[in-house]
Amino acid sequence: MAPLSRSTSSPDSSVVRAYGESRAWANEILWVARLSPYALSSQAGGDDLVRLTDAIRSEMDRGLELRLAGANDEKTYRVHDKLGRPCERCGTPIARVDFEEHTIYYCPHCQTGGRVLKDRRLSRLLK
Ligand SMILES: [Zn+2]
Repeated sequence: MAPLSRSTSSPDSSVVRAYGESRAWANEILWVARLSPYALSSQAGGDDLVRLTDAIRSEMDRGLELRLAGANDEKTYRVHDKLGRPCERCGTPIARVDFEEHTIYYCPHCQTGGRVLKDRRLSRLLK
């Protein structure tokens, strides 16, 4: 993917924006691959990895296309920032979990087999 050059905006704000967008895309990619948000940090391998690689490729293409067409976040994202909204695939309300410094949006039906993930920040405090 060609780097986006925005010579007029300050480097700081574009870095922050890019970082925020990459986290949003991580949510989207995991949803497309039907992987648990925790799969990346634990046992992704084999088929999961193949689905993940395909999802990254297709989402980056799709994202770039939408952005070039001027789509806003609301139109571009399908799970990110959609807490309580129906999953486009199965209609289950999108859930949210805090994982370390990240906020992850996911579909509890498609991605975690109906399991609602526990906030890891909270469970660490309760130990
Ligand atoms: Zn779903």
